[in-house]
Amino acid sequence: MNIEIDNGNHLVFSANKNFKEFCEIIGSSKTIKEISPNFFFFDFENNLKWNLDLSSGYKKFLFGKNKLIPNTKLLDYFSLLKFFFVNKNSSVFEIVGNSKIFKTFWEPLTLGVMNTDPKMASAKVLSNVLKETIYKGEKFCRIFQPKKNWNETLIKPAIVQIKKNGGRINFSNLLKKIDIVDNYVNELSFINHKIKVNKNDTVIVAIPPTNLSKLLGNCSLPKQYNTILNLHFKIKHKDIKLFRKPIVGFINSITQWVFVKNNHLSITVSNANNLNNTNTEELIVNVWNEIRKYIKKKIIYENVQIVREKKATYVQSSNNINLVKKFNKIPENMVIAGDWTQYNLPCTIEASILSGKNAIETI
Ligand SMILES: Cc1cc2nc3c(=O)[nH]c(=O)nc-3n(C[C@H](O)[C@H](O)[C@H](O)COP(=O)(O)OP(=O)(O)OC[C@H]3O[C@@H](n4cnc5c(N)ncnc54)[C@H](O)[C@@H]3O)c2cc1C
Repeated sequence: MNIEIDNGNHLVFSANKNFKEFCEIIGSSKTIKEISPNFFFFDFENNLKWNLDLSSGYKKFLFGKNKLIPNTKLLDYFSLLKFFFVNKNSSVFEIVGNSKIFKTFWEPLTLGVMNTDPKMASAKVLSNVLKETIYKGEKFCRIFQPKKNWNETLIKPAIVQIKKNGGRINFSNLLKKIDIVDNYVNELSFINHKIKVNKNDTVIVAIPPTNLSKLLGNCSLPKQYNTILNLHFKIKHKDIKLFRKPIVGFINSITQWVFVKNNHLSITVSNANNLNNTNTEELIVNVWNEIRKYIKKKIIYENVQIVREKKATYVQSSNNINLVKKFNKIPENMVIAGDWTQYNLPCTIEASILSGKNAIETI
C-alpha cells in the first residue's frame, strides 16, 4: 500500500489510566489525539443515520435536546441501569437481549469492547467497563487514537525506553520449552538459545493462554479465540474529506466500524470467525459497496490491504473467565502477564499494560 497501517483499530477510552501512565513513562503522550465521544451511526439495511452523542454525558443525551436512536423512546434506555448489578455467570444477551436498543447499542458496544458475541460475552466484564466509562461521565469516555499510528505511540517509544534501561529485545525467538524442576522453572529453551533459571530468578511470561498451556503441559485455559478482521482502503485525500466523522458505526452490514485516517479508511469487523474462509475479493467488494452507500458517492480506492487476526482475543465468556480465575498451575518462580490475565477487564491495551504493571509489582 506504500503507507504505514496498524493491524487494526485500537480504540482506547480516556478512563484507561494505566494506558495514560504508560504513555507518560515512555514519553509519547503528545502523539495521542482525543476524540469526543460523539458516535455517528449508519443503519445499512434501513438507510438511517444518527448521532449517539455522549459528549455532554449520558444524562444530557437522555434528557437533553439531543436526538435519541431512531424509533426508540426514553424508556428503552433504562436497560443501561441493568448493568449496575449483574450475576457473574450472565451473558450480555441475558441482561439486555430483549432491549429495543440491543441491535443499535448493546450489540455494537459489546462487539467493539469485548470482541465476543453478546450471547457469550460476560455481562460482568461489560458492567465493569460501563462503571469506569459511561456511568462516570464524558471525561471518562473520550476516545484516544494515535495521531499517526500505534507503532509511533506505543511500540517505538517503548522499545527506546526498554533499551535505555538496559533491556534487550530478541524478536522472532520463540520459547519452545519450559523445563520445570520441583515446581520451579529451571531452564527456558528458545529456538536460538537456552537460558538457565535459578530458583530466586523470576520469569515473566506474557503469551496467549493456548501457547502457555502447551508450554506448561495441557492446562485448563481458554482455547476459543475470535477473529478481528480489518480492511484498509487507501483513498485520495479529497475523498477522505467526504467522511466528516472520524469514527462511524455501521449496523446490519458486514462493516461494523469505519475509522477515517489521514490517508486511508480502516474498516473493523469484530467477532469475525464466520468470515475466516470468505473469499477475500468478494469481501472487499461487499464492504466497499457498503462504504459507497454510506457516502452516497461512487468513490474508488487506490489500494486495499486485508488483515485477519484470527487470535485477536479469546472468547470472553463467563466460562472462559472462570478457567482463567481458577488457573494455578504456575511454577513458583514464574509470573504470568498478558491482557487475558486481567479477567475483570476486557482483553485490551489497558489490560495488557495493567498485567505488566501487576507482574512487576509481584516481584
Ligand atoms: C485487530 C485488533 C483490534 C484490537 N482493537 C483493540 C481496541 O480497539 N482497543 C484495545 O484496547 N485493544 C484492542 N485489541 C486488543 C489489544 O491489541 C490486545 O489486548 C493487546 O495487544 C494484548 O497485548 P498482550 O501483550 O497481552 O498480548 P499479545 O499482543 O497477543 O502479545 C503476545 C506475544 O507473545 C508472543 N508469543 C506467543 N507465543 C510465544 C512463544 N512461545 N514464545 C515467544 N513469544 C510468544 C506473540 O508473538 C505476541 O507477540 C485489538 C486487537 C486486535 C488484534
